[in-house]
Amino acid sequence: MMGVERLGRGLVTTLLLFICLAVPGTAFADVVIENVSIVDLETGAVADQQTVLIEGGRIARIAPRLEAPETAERVEGEGRFLIPGLWDSHVHIFSSRSEPETALPLYLIHGITGVRDMGALWPIADQKELQAKIESGEALGPRLLLAGAWVDARPGSWPGMFLADTPDEARETVTQIAEEGWAAVKSYSMLAKPTYLALADAAKHAGLPLVGHIPERVSLPTALVAGQRGMEHFGRMTMACSKAENQMIEELRAAMDLEVSLQEVFAIMASRNRIILDTWDETLCERVLQRVAAARLHVSPTLVVANFYLGNWPPAEAPRMKLIPAEVREAWGKPDFRLEAMTDEVRALAEKSIALDRKTFLMAHRAGVPILASSDASFANPFLFHGFSLLDELDLYVEIGLTPREALYTATVAPPRFFGLADQDGTIAEGRRADLVLLDANPLDGLAPLRKPRAVIANGRLIDSDALSMMASDLREKAQTSN
Ligand SMILES: [Zn+2]
Repeated sequence: MMGVERLGRGLVTTLLLFICLAVPGTAFADVVIENVSIVDLETGAVADQQTVLIEGGRIARIAPRLEAPETAERVEGEGRFLIPGLWDSHVHIFSSRSEPETALPLYLIHGITGVRDMGALWPIADQKELQAKIESGEALGPRLLLAGAWVDARPGSWPGMFLADTPDEARETVTQIAEEGWAAVKSYSMLAKPTYLALADAAKHAGLPLVGHIPERVSLPTALVAGQRGMEHFGRMTMACSKAENQMIEELRAAMDLEVSLQEVFAIMASRNRIILDTWDETLCERVLQRVAAARLHVSPTLVVANFYLGNWPPAEAPRMKLIPAEVREAWGKPDFRLEAMTDEVRALAEKSIALDRKTFLMAHRAGVPILASSDASFANPFLFHGFSLLDELDLYVEIGLTPREALYTATVAPPRFFGLADQDGTIAEGRRADLVLLDANPLDGLAPLRKPRAVIANGRLIDSDALSMMASDLREKAQTSN
């Protein structure tokens, strides 16, 4: 999902408030965490009684005992557990001018020290400016990966997209995306198959990963052959387990070739839910998932989005609502075009469709399909909350059948490896970037302690529990007074 608010370039200024700099309890000094249990989320091993020295944003030393400089900020780790900072691999933090002011602290409060933005309304130059400020320490926030160069057919599903209707346009678009310095090319739903194939080919030549939606007129096996590296949302995986996948795609392609109305296009897409439920096949699914796993197509499931469609919305008095600016809460309360677009049939089948997605998700995990924990949080996506929704997504993974370690792996180990980050791989080791979360209980026994970290270290900067609380109360105050 993504928002509809259009922002002129002139509107986006550097007027961001970096209030967090003034928060006491955040330190630029060297940090030493003593007597802590380090959790390895790849193996499940726990190394007790370790001391971790952090210098200049990096993990400098790890040893049972070590001499730390006098000036280092000391953190008691006895009885506590250290894990790598979390990643949310699908968010939108640039859908309004002020969104980062709320989003960045909310991520840190939840131990999320990295986010991948998958579609923005800010110009890339302004996104990069904020990214640079976070990296330099001028602003406090999670590491930002800018992967929102989304490409769609005209007129575009959202404002501000790159548009391509021919293979030539697709190639030109990739050249522009590469020049502008995005981290990926994101394909979107309405691309025609020849345009999509050219986009995939051009992305490969530009050295950029193709991630995003598998277009509605392209099958999942075709996307695998084209070299798509990342897939956003989960529905297309369930659809690929239907014996009628090709038939559904051909039906839509034929209709669109005849230039039927947009209404008819949406009706054909809406009819897919019933067909998928009727034709989903376990044996076929096993085969498809094995192919996906072998191709290392990384999936960002965003299962938590189902809560929006089911109407599982938090009440106005829920604590998380109190952290969201009044104008955003107001917008979330208005009729939503996505809900209004649901047919009665889709609504009636929603619970069954979601259950089938979850069943397929567990099969995908067991087949070895790489998963990147993702929330789709954005002010433009009602009731999907920066920070909170990623932890909700992880809770869902556990509810569906993953162990807490397996769930955490999708938010810590898998993302930096998929992104190819040189200084981060989801392990806590000397030389790595110091993005860490200190917890009061062992997260391998359950994810509850993630809801209230003892401390968060973002790019080497310590944010203790008092500072985290202060960031939350600051957001609460601003959310009340905003107009
Ligand atoms: Zn999204």
